[in-house]
Formats: sequence, C-alpha cells, structure tokens
Amino acid sequence: MRFFRPDGIKIKTSSQIEAMKEAGHLSAQVLREVGARISPGVSTLELDEFAEEYIRAAGGVPAFKGYGGFPGTICASINEMVVHGIPSKDAVLKEGDIVSIDTGATVNRWVGDNAATFAVGNISEDAQRLIDVTEVAMWAGIEQAVPGNHLGDIGHAVQEVAESAGFGVVREYTGHGIGRKMHEPPSVYNYGQPGWGTLLEEGMVIAIEPMVTMGTFRVRTLEDGWGVVTRDGKPAAHFERTVAITADGPVVLTEA
Ligand code: MG
Repeated sequence: MRFFRPDGIKIKTSSQIEAMKEAGHLSAQVLREVGARISPGVSTLELDEFAEEYIRAAGGVPAFKGYGGFPGTICASINEMVVHGIPSKDAVLKEGDIVSIDTGATVNRWVGDNAATFAVGNISEDAQRLIDVTEVAMWAGIEQAVPGNHLGDIGHAVQEVAESAGFGVVREYTGHGIGRKMHEPPSVYNYGQPGWGTLLEEGMVIAIEPMVTMGTFRVRTLEDGWGVVTRDGKPAAHFERTVAITADGPVVLTEA
C-alpha cells in the first residue's frame, strides 16, 4: 500500500476498515436511538444530552463535541436549517417539523459520521417527499462508490436524483474523506460530471452526505456562526453514511 498521496487521501487497509466498523456501528446506533426519541415537545438539547450519554456509555467519544469549537454531540437542524444546528433547550420540536440529525462517534481513535432527517409527528406530503428523495439520492451516490469510478460519478448520481425530483442540491457543503480524522481529503461533491474528479480506489473511506432543498440551493450561515439555513426559508433534508470503497463494492460502515 501507499503511505502518502500528494492529494492527502489516506488509503485504509482492510483491517483498518474492519476497525472503523466499530465507530461506524456506534454512530449508527446513536443516530437511530436519537431518531426514536424525536417527537413534538422534545428539545434538541434533550436529544443532544441523550446522544452524549449513549456514546460515552458504549465506550466511545462524541466526535462532534469540541470539533472546531462545536458545542454539541449532535447537529440538530430544523426545517429550513440545512446543517450544523446547535442543540438548544429553546429549539423545541413541534408537530409537522422535519429535523436533520448529524452525529458521530470516535472508537479506538477511528471516527464514524452519519445523518438522517426525521419527521416530527405528521408532516406534509411535500416534506415527506423531500426526505425520501434525499435518502434515495444518498443511496444512488453510495452505489457509485466503487473502484474505477470517479468522485464525479457519485456527485452526478446524487444530483440527478435530487434535481429530477425538482429539488436543489446545496453546493457550499460536501461529503468528505474520513478515518482517524472526521474530515480528511477528498471533498465529496453532491454534483458533478460522470468520469470527472478523483479516481476512486480500494481502501478509500468517504462520507457521502447530500443536502437537498425544496427551493433554492442557496444557503447562508446564521449569526451563531454554525447554523446553515436556506436563503428562501424553505425546508432542507440531509442524509449521510460513512462508506468504504472495496473490491467487493461499497461497504456502509455506519450500520446499526
Ligand atoms: Mg459528514
């Protein structure tokens, strides 16, 4: 194997990928358990406290907490918030909201990262369609994560699903390589041209995470320096998995 690439991408051995499954598993478990606790009247701070306890009780470390100064174990982004919502006791979920939860755990110094958008009680048909299309877009991207393809194949597949449904794809935020660090090269764009960009090789591990909007794909950052919202105030959804590129095809490491 190569220990150094000029593009900074860290190729993992199959035993390293095996080791990453533990962090991925815990990340997926906590995401699922947070999802099960989402209902009207619950604050995102309560969800955050639950997530931190859950990860620590399982012997992991919250990967987000303190990352770049982020205060939470989860990012909790309601409705028009796309990503990076700071958990707060004042952010109380209400019937009809959608909420994107992004969280990750570090286990044995390997990092897992995953996200999903959840319905709070009954939601509109449009909001449900946004959630469903975003998840389908993520899986379309994951399907392209095979040796011999290029990053552009992933981005193109994601973009095709989202835009053909009439939705927008956020440009300013992307997926990423992941391993010892949560964010490693390369950036994994959610748009692109088939056959373009970095060649995908066995041993790469990437987080594929489309952020899809009901209206404009343009976003802005809130004054807290973290929360990212759509410029038109329309809702957004976000799904993410940590995926290893192997000779046998894509392997999702964030499996509950
Ligand atoms: Mg990520």
